[in-house]
Amino acid sequence: MHKRLLLATRNQHKKQELQAMLADLSIEILTLDDIAGLPKVDEDGATFAENASKKARQNAALSGMVCLADDSGLTVDVLDGRPGVYSARFAGPGANDDENNEKLLELMEAVPDDRRTASFVCAIAVANPQGKVSVVEGSCPGRIIRERAGTGGFGYDPLFVPDGYTATFAELEPEEKNRISHRGRALALARTLIEKYLCSE
Ligand code: IMP
Repeated sequence: MHKRLLLATRNQHKKQELQAMLADLSIEILTLDDIAGLPKVDEDGATFAENASKKARQNAALSGMVCLADDSGLTVDVLDGRPGVYSARFAGPGANDDENNEKLLELMEAVPDDRRTASFVCAIAVANPQGKVSVVEGSCPGRIIRERAGTGGFGYDPLFVPDGYTATFAELEPEEKNRISHRGRALALARTLIEKYLCSE
């Protein structure tokens, strides 16, 4: 039977990463760009898991399709976990990646190298149109460097060096980032959920 999965994201970078990692599944993958009229979900949850669940549940109910949503961000230890769920708008509403990176660098200017630890976190929720939803989480530990390096990826990638590496996420090949990233780890766990949800359709 023909299986379809809706990815609930308008972020082109996340879309590319998720599509690349799901390419081996023999299912059709659609995104919000393919379906007209789905309203933007208010990401007002206190956790990545809450936001991912809300996005997956609402989009599954409105589209009638099994839906996968990602909510993710950067948690910096010395900033008590900030920017966290506010990662996309750290420098203010509508801030771009460059402004968010600049704010992070400014806030961390006086922080010594051994206290610059951080993690990327990703919650992935899978929901069906009947309202059933499951969530998994992946994280990737690393540290924040003092100036941007690399042109790949998106968001805070140019400032984040994962543990065990000397290069930033923005300097790694996309396949290598996907292999070790918070999103890659969450999606590895979400695969069984996707299969389970699509099979019970
Ligand atoms: P969301 O769309 O509300 O989940 O916000 C995600 C935000 O977290 C992005 O706009 C980035 O600032 C940051 N982020 C999430 N994943 C990554 C990543 O893989 N690399 C760099 N930044 C990321």
